[in-house]
This record gives sequence, structure tokens and C-alpha cells, in this order.
Amino acid sequence: MTDILTGLKVFVRTFGCQMNENDSEHIAGVLVRAGAGKADRPEDADIVVVNTCAVREKSEEKLYSYLGRLSSLKKKKPFLLGVAGCVAQVQKSDLFKKRPFVDFVVGPDNYLELPAIIKNAAEAPSVLTDWGRDWRELGADSTARENAWSAFIPVMEGCDNFCAYCIVPFSRGREKFRPLPNIIAEVRAAAGAGALEVQLLGQNVNSYLDPGSGLGFAGLLDRVCAVPGVEWVRFIASHPKNFGHEIIGAMAANPKICRQLHLPLQSGSSRVLERMNRGYKREDYLALAARLKSGLPGILLSTDIIVGFPGESQEDFEETCSLLSEVRFANIFSFRYSPRPLTAAARIPDDVPLEVKRRRLVALQDLQKKIQLEVNRSFIGADLRVLCTGPSVKGGGRYAGRAEGNQVVNFDSATDPTGRFVTVRITGSGPYSLRGSLL
Ligand code: SAM
Ligand code: SF4
Repeated sequence: MTDILTGLKVFVRTFGCQMNENDSEHIAGVLVRAGAGKADRPEDADIVVVNTCAVREKSEEKLYSYLGRLSSLKKKKPFLLGVAGCVAQVQKSDLFKKRPFVDFVVGPDNYLELPAIIKNAAEAPSVLTDWGRDWRELGADSTARENAWSAFIPVMEGCDNFCAYCIVPFSRGREKFRPLPNIIAEVRAAAGAGALEVQLLGQNVNSYLDPGSGLGFAGLLDRVCAVPGVEWVRFIASHPKNFGHEIIGAMAANPKICRQLHLPLQSGSSRVLERMNRGYKREDYLALAARLKSGLPGILLSTDIIVGFPGESQEDFEETCSLLSEVRFANIFSFRYSPRPLTAAARIPDDVPLEVKRRRLVALQDLQKKIQLEVNRSFIGADLRVLCTGPSVKGGGRYAGRAEGNQVVNFDSATDPTGRFVTVRITGSGPYSLRGSLL
């Protein structure tokens, strides 16, 4: 299949999470390996792949409006248009009925087949949404990374948890673990190419079990930290019900693992958590947060919250707010509940009125903003190690980066430190970022 796309240019647009960003690097890598070049905008492309997210109704609406724009563009300058990712997996060939200008549909486990799918799509609409990712072929030479200094490394895919609201077990399939030797080979290759940071990815990374040796996630962390050159290790996402003592032990024993953790909560009410099928209670989450804070001093926690899950009362919502005040997250991602096809919750009435969901979301975000202001203010005067990610959006000699706790840090620099570690003395803060001067 090599070279069948020679002379063609591809543009990949990503919606959704880090897993999707990494999948897009994989899509681009496979197409470049087949001879294609990269285009910076759809106007210059012969092939456009839209990598989609189905997690919330809003993400799917955004996709359809983007596809509408591509359809007008395609009339002026023809190109082959493909839909990849979670919406592709769920909708399959129905997408051709809904959007007849789409030429190919490809599910998350089938990107290695893309050159053949695209070749077929030139003749007739082409679809492939089989299960079973081929991990052996996934790796350094099939991934065109967006940057060299920070590498996404997938370690598992799919999910067996079936949270009542979540489409992922249907869009990504059941839990599948990538073999350890294969993961370590990609980490080594990324480090050899200049990666200072690696981010291990999966829907539920802490349930990891190496299919060959049975080694768990704590063991995987040890092996990844042993790779020379890698200085920071992060991982996302973790499920509170699988976060055992041994993982906290591995984090404590490995200073390379950033003192930062994304630990989705969803609700602070045990009643709602049970209806969501999350597998833990409010008290369990609080006890885990306390263990993390005492075992890993200085750790910053972030979380995901859903407001307005069916049956959520004002009292339930207030329990979520009180948990936020207790744990004091450094960051939260908060969403209004929307019913998703195939999920258990889609079969029960979506009974919290839209107005109430909106009001709760605003109240939650206002509370969190105050907490973040205080958390961020506590860093004023500190010298933080920052991995520079590039010029800040404001420009003018200003750069941005991430500190170990994953906080955004803005600073001025006369030279371009993108992709390097710098030390920044923090002089100011807002709810969403820190600022400081380069030492
Ligand atoms: N596996 C991770 C976890 O357990 O949190 C990530 C799941 S999902 C890709 C990311 C977030 O989307 C979830 O944590 C949840 O807060 C939100 N989400 C998922 N389904 C949703 C729905 N139906 N309505 C609103 N938010 C939803
Ligand atoms: Fe979805 Fe729950 Fe699995 Fe996360 S753990 S991907 S929220 S089903």
C-alpha cells in the first residue's frame, strides 16, 4: 500500500479529546507513509478527514455544522471527504444517507486501512468500522506527531464500565490493552526523537493489564519512567474505582511522574453516582483525594462534572458544589447532561429542565472560578519548571507553557524556548493561568 497516495495532500481536522488528537496524528502518519503530503487548510487538500467526537450532543452538532461548510467548499473545489472516529463508528453507512457528500467513513480501529479505503472511495462510498485495533502496527513510524517534545502514547482503548450516560463503550468498543513491549518501543522512539514529556492515553488507563505478562498500571508506570530522556510522565484518564494504593506508590517512587491527576468525579452525590453506575460513593472519592494529597504532597487534581443528570435534585447538585469546595480542584471540565444514543440513561426521561441545567452549570463554574483564583494565587513567588508549548495567543514576545501541575504559565522571552524546559518565577495569576518572568 506504500506510495498509493503520492502527489495528494491531506488535511485532518480533530474534534474531541487527547485520544482523538493522537488518533489524528496516527491518521496523518498512515497517509504520509502511503505517500501523501500534509495540507494546512481544507482549501489546499485532495483528501479531508474529519476525526469526530460523539460524547456530547454539542460535539456532534459542531461536527455537522463543520461538514456543512466543507460541503460548500467541495462544490467549488472537489476533494475526497472522510469522517473518522466515534461518530463514524456509531453512525456507519447511515452517514452517507444523512450527509450524501461524504465519501468515506472509518472507525477508530481501522486507520491502518485508510489508504485502501481512500482508493476505493474515489470509485464509490466506502465504509470500514470493524473492531480490533492492530497494536503491532501502531507506533513511531505510523504516527506524524504535532510536535517532538511532548508525545501522546496510547496504552489502551475502549471501556467496559458502561457509565449510564456514556457512549464510549459503543463508539470505542470494549477495553483493549496494548502490549507492554509495544508501548515501551514507542516511548523509546519518541524519546529518541526528542520527547521530554510523554502522556499515556486511554479511557481508563489505570485498569491497564499487559496482555503478555499481566503487569498492571503501576508496573507500566515504572517501565515508562525507566526510559532515558523522558523527564515528565502524565496519564489520562483515570477511573476513581480502579485507583489502587500501588498506583499512588508508583507515583511517589517516580519523581518523573507529574504531581497532577485528572480524576473524573461526575457528581458529588452518592445517589446520582449510583444511578450513573460509577462504582464509587462520594465518601470513596473524598478518601481517595485525601490519600493522593497526603501520599503526593503538592499534587493538583482536576476533574469532570456533569450537571443535570436525570433525577438530579437541587440537594444532589449542592453536594457536588460542597465536594468542589472540599477537594479544591485546580481545574474542572463541566458539562450539561445530554442523552446519547445506545446508552442506559437515554432510556430514562431527561427530566431536569434545560433552564435548571444552565443555572446549575453557571453556579458550578462561578464557584470553581473562585477556588481556582485562590489555588493559582498560592503559586505567586514560586519558581516553576515549565515546558514551553509555543508563542502565547497574545503574541508580542510572550510565550506559554505548562508547569508540572498542568497549569498554563505565560511569560516573556527574548528568544524562542518552544519545546524546552525553562524556569519561571510566578509574579501574577488569574483563574485560568499564571504569569511570570523567565529566570
Ligand atoms: N473515561 C473518562 C472518564 O471516565 O471520565 C472520559 C470520558 S468522556 C470522553 C469525557 C467526559 O465527558 C466525561 O468525564 C463526562 O464528564 C462527559 N460526558 C460523557 N457523556 C456525557 C453526556 N451524555 N452528557 C454530558 N457530558 C458527558
Ligand atoms: Fe465513559 Fe464511564 Fe468509560 Fe469514562 S469510564 S469512558 S465515562 S463509560
